[in-house]
Amino acid sequence: MPDLSTRDIKFLQGVGPQRAAILNKELNVYSLHDLLYYFPYKYVDRSRLYYIHEIDGNMPYIQLRGRILTFETFGEGRQRRLVAHFSDGTGVVDLVWFQGLKYVTGKYKAGEEYVVFGKPTVFNGRINIAHPDIDPAGELKLSAMGLQPYYNTTEKMKRANLNSHALERLMKNLFHTLQREVFDETLSPTLIETYHLMSLTDALYNIHFPQTPELLRRAQYRLKFEELLYVQLNILRYARERRNKFRGLVFDRVGDIFNTFYARNLPFELTGAQKRVIKEMRRDMGSGRQMNRLLQGDVGSGKTLVALMTMLIALDNGYQTCMMAPTEILAVQHFETVKRFLEGMDVRVELLTGNVKGKKRETILRDLLTGDVQILIGTHAVIEDTVNFSSLGLVVIDEQHRFGVAQRAKLWAKNTCPPHVLVMTATPIPRTLAMTLYGDLDVSVIDELPPGRKPVKTVHQFDNRRPLLYGFIRQQIQEGRQVYIVYPLIKESEKMDIKNLEEGYVHITEAFPEYKVSKVHGQMKPAEKDEEMQRFLRNETQIMVATTVIEVGVNVPNASVMVIENAERFGLSQLHQLRGRVGRGADQSYCVLVTGYKLTEETRKRIEIMVQTNDGFEIAEADLKLRGPGDLEGTQQSGVAFDLKIADIARDGQLLQFVRGVAERLLDEDPEGIRPENEVVWRQLKELRRKNVNWAVIS
Ligand code: ADP
Ligand code: MG
Repeated sequence: MPDLSTRDIKFLQGVGPQRAAILNKELNVYSLHDLLYYFPYKYVDRSRLYYIHEIDGNMPYIQLRGRILTFETFGEGRQRRLVAHFSDGTGVVDLVWFQGLKYVTGKYKAGEEYVVFGKPTVFNGRINIAHPDIDPAGELKLSAMGLQPYYNTTEKMKRANLNSHALERLMKNLFHTLQREVFDETLSPTLIETYHLMSLTDALYNIHFPQTPELLRRAQYRLKFEELLYVQLNILRYARERRNKFRGLVFDRVGDIFNTFYARNLPFELTGAQKRVIKEMRRDMGSGRQMNRLLQGDVGSGKTLVALMTMLIALDNGYQTCMMAPTEILAVQHFETVKRFLEGMDVRVELLTGNVKGKKRETILRDLLTGDVQILIGTHAVIEDTVNFSSLGLVVIDEQHRFGVAQRAKLWAKNTCPPHVLVMTATPIPRTLAMTLYGDLDVSVIDELPPGRKPVKTVHQFDNRRPLLYGFIRQQIQEGRQVYIVYPLIKESEKMDIKNLEEGYVHITEAFPEYKVSKVHGQMKPAEKDEEMQRFLRNETQIMVATTVIEVGVNVPNASVMVIENAERFGLSQLHQLRGRVGRGADQSYCVLVTGYKLTEETRKRIEIMVQTNDGFEIAEADLKLRGPGDLEGTQQSGVAFDLKIADIARDGQLLQFVRGVAERLLDEDPEGIRPENEVVWRQLKELRRKNVNWAVIS
């Protein structure tokens, strides 16, 4: 079949230049190929007719056959609505229109028989169907079809009459144009046979116009399988190439520095999980291959210490290391933590951030070159081009799930042999997502908290119960604790949010005249922000009013209460991160989620999950299910294609794992990509990489 991606959508019957422009703009559909791969988001069974006496307001879309008894209009101006009382002899429902009233009364007649299709809801005790689809009962074309596809459309499209039905008609025209041509297969015959897959031609037809639910299921399976297979092949092949290309520095011994630290300075027993993870990294770094490892561990699980001990192994092998944090505050905190841990040991640690200037900076840069500075801790400043090491052996990147492949690749150039890389994140990523986002990284997990931690108690509080909440806060402060109060910050309306914060601050200072209150937000100068944080850390202020700038990493063990205002405006992973700011000391800590009364179903679920569990992985899974991967932090910036057209990482996790195995076997059996039976696979992979900008980023 000729290449459909070179055939402009505008020449398809029913499109033309105007509609083509809309399709381009709204759906990114330019060619026949693009349209063909614009899949329905749902299907509705139109094979069954219901009786009115059977239906209720909880049913999904349903179909009725009957007659309009009378029309009535209500309201004025924008409030106007048209109601048709519709009956099939078993009952009456109201069909309701808010727009196009003239069109409706002109087109449909009382007394005629129609098939009506829509979603029933209950309003004022009556069953309503708003803006139903109506067909004269004599022309039951659509209903004869069984499963009807529904396509997502935008407001602009609807205004141009390009609704789901219109797309359905275009799709029909498309298949009509193609006649019975067969699509060039994009999977190898071996794969199709081994995994009992539907052919591409059948799959594409059935995904739009499923002949039966079973055929639809098989079409979906085939297309998801293919989509996930190529994503995985792309990532895995790249990871393998990198492994073959780069030798790794060999850290084959554990020496004085590590041992001294372990024997003399380590203030507590390592948890089992910490030990296991350190072992995993030792094995990696001793293997002769470059380590690229993601360390996941819930907030407070002790990742910093693990990172430090890994760094000491690098020192023992004669290499320097650096550690990068996302913010100045965190960098300083790490620097101080590391210095404290290494007290009395002969290891030179320096801090490098944008604020380190002049003579001090010069000295550090010079001593990095001679190797005198052994551990460098800082912000992004540490990977600037002007920072050069004598022998950099390991880079640790903290709290940076956004640190994509491209950025990591930049680090590899810092030494003739690329340094080992350890990325740490406290935003746990479900396994399936990690496979796609970080398919090229090995993953270690700290799944155990240090002993003695009391899980944070989380409660939900409506915002009219504030007096109760304030009483609780007061009591905690009287016991010597400190309190965070966090306000949401959403980029689009930063001004308004700052206003929220300012008002909150005034309110809190008035409510707690006997205490000192700190205030921190993202628009403050770093130095000011830092100073405020430090005051809170020194317990000079008892309450910290802040936006989410305190989300990451900040450690104030004496703070035991985290109040999150407008909790409905935060995502799950953010709520969990914020909660992680408390529960760091020995005292029982609390997280209070404050919301208004009116909550959406999804918000209610989020809050419920937070109240029920402290387990970051469980929360991450739930988040993925609630929101889908597109919205999760890190997915956009990850450098891996995320515009999956049909597979859904949240729901198709099992298939993803299965397909990853298939991809691995393919690469094992045909590492050079030369076997004739796989030719179509390698050709397709190459084609996808050519077309997909995101994919190319990681080559
Ligand atoms: P995170 O994983 O969130 O970065 P941190 O590394 O900041 O966690 O550790 C949280 C706190 O727990 C720190 O005060 C750290 O010193 C302490 N800690 C780490 N490991 C242990 C351990 N094995 N036993 C007791 N406390 C520990
Ligand atoms: Mg940390």
